[in-house]
Amino acid sequence: MRKITNNQVRKWTKVNNVAIPASFSAWCPHCSEKVTFNTINHLHDPQRACVSASCYCPGCSHHVSIWSLGAHGPESAEVFIHPNTGEPHSPKDIALVISEPLYRSYTSTVDAYNSGNYAATAVCCRRTLEGIFQGLLPEGQQIHNLARAITEVAESVDLSEPIRNLADVLRQGGNIGAHFNMEKEPDEKMAFQMLTLLENIIDFLHVLPEEISSLEQLLDSKA
Ligand SMILES: [Zn+2]
Repeated sequence: MRKITNNQVRKWTKVNNVAIPASFSAWCPHCSEKVTFNTINHLHDPQRACVSASCYCPGCSHHVSIWSLGAHGPESAEVFIHPNTGEPHSPKDIALVISEPLYRSYTSTVDAYNSGNYAATAVCCRRTLEGIFQGLLPEGQQIHNLARAITEVAESVDLSEPIRNLADVLRQGGNIGAHFNMEKEPDEKMAFQMLTLLENIIDFLHVLPEEISSLEQLLDSKA
């Protein structure tokens, strides 16, 4: 099941007072094209206060099922479609932490992937990686060979500094919680920041090495 958000709905209709999209725009789970679906064959289920319906992709003609729990009108309706494949890869929310040209390069990579252009994805990935590593090297010392740039960054930049800072911040946060000082009790914002830091540490220490190793194996198997 994949949730359809209100801003994907083009037009609402009502079946026995339950709101359901008459048409909505979504990525087709079968052909991965972004299309507008029209709902037909509505069926009201009064026990569950929902309406189910069918739609057919205008591109590939495959069937998609839809359910709407919309007894209180379109504003609060919850709408789901099945099957749940074909979801586009959504870009990470990193616009504020990298430069604007780098972010554009990154979103172009995501767009290339979502449109099924995997050769362009590889080219854009490489260009974005080059941008990331060039940005870490001192002004005037940029190296245009990606592998050499990465080696140079590994040798000249203290890559462990951010992780040391993360660990420090997390320890301080943990102390606050452990001492349970009413004035310093972590609020939702601080707890969320601590959780985010924890996840970043796991990504850095475990997910990243694992992903590099998987990519290495994949490249070796294709060689
Ligand atoms: Zn389709």
